[in-house]
Amino acid sequence: MILMQGKGVAKGVVNGPIYFFQRPNTAISDAPAADIEAEKARVAAAQVKSADQLSALADKAREEAGEETAILFETHAMFVEDEDYVDCMMNALEEKRCTAEKAVQTAGEEFSAMLAAMDDPYMQARAADIKDVTRRILNNLMGIVEGGINSEEPVILAADDLAPSETLQLDKSKILGFITQGGSGNSHTAILARTMGIPAICGLGDALKEEQNGRMAYIDGETGQVAIEPDELTLSLFQSKQEKQRELKELMETMKGQKDVTLDGREIMVYCNIGSPEDVPAVVANDGQGIGLFRSEFLYLASSDYPSEEEQFKAYKEVAAAMGGKRVVIRTLDIGADKQVDYFQMHKEENPALGVRAIRICLNRPEVFRTQLRALYRASAYGKVAIMFPMITSVWEVRECKRACQKVMAELDAEGTPYSKDTEIGIMIETPASVLVAEELAKEVDFFSVGTNDLTQYTLACDRQANDLGKFFDPHHPAVLRALKIAADAAHKAGIWIGICGELGADLALLETFLAIGIDELSVSPASVLPLRAEIRKSIAKTCTLEKLEC
Ligand code: PEP
Ligand code: MG
Repeated sequence: MILMQGKGVAKGVVNGPIYFFQRPNTAISDAPAADIEAEKARVAAAQVKSADQLSALADKAREEAGEETAILFETHAMFVEDEDYVDCMMNALEEKRCTAEKAVQTAGEEFSAMLAAMDDPYMQARAADIKDVTRRILNNLMGIVEGGINSEEPVILAADDLAPSETLQLDKSKILGFITQGGSGNSHTAILARTMGIPAICGLGDALKEEQNGRMAYIDGETGQVAIEPDELTLSLFQSKQEKQRELKELMETMKGQKDVTLDGREIMVYCNIGSPEDVPAVVANDGQGIGLFRSEFLYLASSDYPSEEEQFKAYKEVAAAMGGKRVVIRTLDIGADKQVDYFQMHKEENPALGVRAIRICLNRPEVFRTQLRALYRASAYGKVAIMFPMITSVWEVRECKRACQKVMAELDAEGTPYSKDTEIGIMIETPASVLVAEELAKEVDFFSVGTNDLTQYTLACDRQANDLGKFFDPHHPAVLRALKIAADAAHKAGIWIGICGELGADLALLETFLAIGIDELSVSPASVLPLRAEIRKSIAKTCTLEKLEC
């Protein structure tokens, strides 16, 4: 048996084989190829493989997803062999004497640009199909596995560390748990694991080695323990915790459909944090009363180019409609810091957490902002959408955001496009500056939501990404709690509600403090809803003063 100790960042006990994440080398060389005939043969083999995969996907889709999706895959299979597209690849090989990868990449770019430039909207839309087909052929050429996991069985995914964009592209149905050498509990990868309800442990250091690939392990995402091939005693401890986990889940289920009221009668809104429409079934299954944070930037991170207005509209509409009139707070793009998106071509920064991130990018790039706002307002016609702006520090920023919203609403009015005029606008309180000007900010918006991950980082001057700050990164610090109280008082003075959507919202040890501070809403990962509800029903709301939030 090998025992390892890391930091548990997403609860749950699971067991399965360890699988080391292979980071694909996606760089395509411009160097000339030695043997053009051999490169042609590689292209042909990758084409056959891609066509086979696509027809298998079409068969599967016909059984599981319906005729429309099946036809899409069949069309893609036809594109793989399209004469003009293949000519484009062969010309590149002959003329540029390049590698198979370069030829396929060039053909994909040229052919999709040609389609996009056509007048016929149907042909224009085919450009995206060609990009998709090109990506598939390239993956096959470079041995990149779609979804990142080359295993039939679900696995415990091991890695040195994982970027949020890598995590998003993994095939979740194949992942039982995450274990990483580095990482921090406040990183977006850990947040994603919690949102997906997948147990995770970070900070295992050198104890986690590639040679452990394939070995059977148990992991406990609460205690941070990993046991490879556990002995009998350790195995029975893990198994009895798994059993308790099952029993607790059954008990929690009985609370579904009930109101979240404290012993002294205070009702709290318990909402969920999500990263994509795929997370909504977990919200519904856990009986979330709404969505308090939809991290819209994950749509951008999962994409290789700017998501269009239409793509975004579809995602927001799907979530709004699926929540059936319950509030859905969608946060505008919050990239930067650990959420890097290549196609934004941001300048390298010394301190990205203090750089051009979140709302600063949107205000600097009005076209990107406008596209997202149009998609959000259009989606508001299909449910109760609320728009939230991240990383606010100043009143002028909020006013500029509101002006951008008004412009978009005027456009939609002029076009006769439906949207809800009652769409609420809120801001995140996640900087000390926003706390200190909270009274002024509260007059501008319909709600506040506190991002305690960043608020802790900026208040305590502690990098949320670092995994060695230990006790210095302390979200229970009185400075953080007093910041919450100042913001809550300002919100209530202006007659608006205040929630918490940072990870601290799920910290049961602080629940009574949040109630005393006057927090109206808690937005947590779907798996944290039921334990939180159980705790609310045992709690007393009371009230408190700033001084009471002691050192
Ligand atoms: C936060 O900072 O607490 C928050 C909810 O936003 P994110 O974690 O995505 O930065
Ligand atoms: Mg934040």
